[in-house]
Amino acid sequence: MDLKELVKNAGILGAGGAGFPTHVKISCQAEVVIVNGAECEPLLRVDQQIMELYAREVVEGLRLVVEHTGAKEGVIALKAHYKGAVAALTEVVQGMGNIRLHLLRAYYPAGDEQQIVYEVTGKVVPTGGLPLDVGAVVCNASTLLNVARAAEGKKVVEKYVTIGGAVGQPKTVKVPVGMSCRELLEAAGGVTEPCRYLMGGPCMGRVLKDLDEPVTKTTGGLLAIPEDHPYWQLREEKLNLQRIQAVCCQCSMCTQMCPRNALGLNVQPHKAMRTIAQGVDLLGDVNGIFSCCNCGLCTYYACNFGLHPSQVMQQLKGALMAKGVRPRKEVFTSADRGLENKKVPVKRLVARLGLTDYDVAAPLEDRLLQTDRVRILLRMGVGAPSVPVVSVGDKVRKNTLVADIAPDKLGVKMHASISGTVTAVTDGYIEIRKATV
Ligand code: SF4
Ligand code: SF4
Repeated sequence: MDLKELVKNAGILGAGGAGFPTHVKISCQAEVVIVNGAECEPLLRVDQQIMELYAREVVEGLRLVVEHTGAKEGVIALKAHYKGAVAALTEVVQGMGNIRLHLLRAYYPAGDEQQIVYEVTGKVVPTGGLPLDVGAVVCNASTLLNVARAAEGKKVVEKYVTIGGAVGQPKTVKVPVGMSCRELLEAAGGVTEPCRYLMGGPCMGRVLKDLDEPVTKTTGGLLAIPEDHPYWQLREEKLNLQRIQAVCCQCSMCTQMCPRNALGLNVQPHKAMRTIAQGVDLLGDVNGIFSCCNCGLCTYYACNFGLHPSQVMQQLKGALMAKGVRPRKEVFTSADRGLENKKVPVKRLVARLGLTDYDVAAPLEDRLLQTDRVRILLRMGVGAPSVPVVSVGDKVRKNTLVADIAPDKLGVKMHASISGTVTAVTDGYIEIRKATV
C-alpha cells in the first residue's frame, strides 16, 4: 500500500506541535525532509529518549518519507548534547548516503519549525508561509516513529509522555492514548506539594484545568508546578495598560532577543507595546505580527521589567484575525548576522523561570501503563473532529477504528487504545472501559 494510505489508516498526526495530519503533510514533493528532534520546550525529554531507544525506527520513518516525497535528503536535527541519541542515530545512518545528522546548540527555541528549517537549509520560511515554500517538510521524531510502525500495519494508540516538575519520580512513560492525566501523575509518584499543571512545557504549554483530561496523540509532557511558584505570576499576570504605559521604556530588548526577528521576519514586539500603550497604530505594516510563534522569549527572558510583550503580540494577532486580516507571504529582510549570539541557552532560560530544581533526568520506562478507562478525543489537532463509527455498548478491541475522518475534511482516524466496551459517545470524545472481549 502507498505510504500516504498507510499513514492515513494509522491515524498519524504531528506528535510534537499543532497536530497536523501527517498523510496530508507528506503529500508533496520536497527537497529535504527534516526530523525535528530538538525538543523545543525546556524540561521535556521524550524526543531525545525516543531517538536513542528507537533510532532504527525513526530513521526508517524518515527514509520512507524521503522516498515518498522525492526529497534529495533527510536530515535529523537534534541538540549536540543528546549524547545517547546522537550515538545511536550516527550508528544507524552510517552508509546511508542521503540521510545525515545536523547538530544544534542547546538554545531556546531550537525546535521552532522556522528555526530548524533555517539551521538546516539556510533559508527562511516566509511570514504566512510553510516550510514547503523553501522545499522542506518537517516532522517530529515521534511522528516518524509512528510512520515506521504504520508501514508494519500498526495504529497510533500509544504515546510517550514526560512527567516532570514537583512529582515524586520524574519519568517518561508509555501510555494508551486517552488515559487521564491524573493516572499519569500517579505513575510518577504523585505531587510533592500542592500544584497546578501544564500540558506541555513551561513556555508554550497549556495550563491544564482538569486532571481528568486525557492524553492525546500530541501530548508530550505533563508538568506539575507548585501553586505558589513565582512562575505562575509571571505567566498569568493580566495585561495592564497603565503599567505598560508607565514602565515600558521602549528599550526594544524584546525585539532584539526575538528569534523570529533575528531570522529577518518583521516581528517587533516593542512596537506592539507602543501601539497598545498609546492606542495608535505605530506598527506600520502589521504583517510581521503573524510570524510571532508565541515562544514567550520576549516575556520570560528579554524584558527586564516583567512586562508581557508576547501576550500583547497574541492579542494584536487575534484582533487582526478577527478583522479578517490574513498574513501575506513575505521575508522582510535578511537574517541577522548576530543571530548566533542571540541564541538563549536553555539552562539560562530555565533559571530565569525559576525552574532549575525541576531540570532533572526523567528516565524512560518502556512498559505500557495500564488503565481501565480511556477517552479518545475526536479532535486532537488541526482539522475537523473525527466522526464516531461506534455506538454505546459496542465491544471493541485495541486498534479497532472508532472514529473516521469527516467526509472531505482535514482530519485523522482514531482507534481504540484498549480493548473493552464503548460506554460513551459525545461530541467531544469516545469513552471505552476495559472488559474481556
Ligand atoms: S516590553 Fe520590556 S523589553 Fe520590550 S521595549 Fe518595553 S521595556 Fe523594553
Ligand atoms: S513571543 Fe516574543 S520572542 Fe517569541 S516570536 Fe513572538 S515576539 Fe518574538
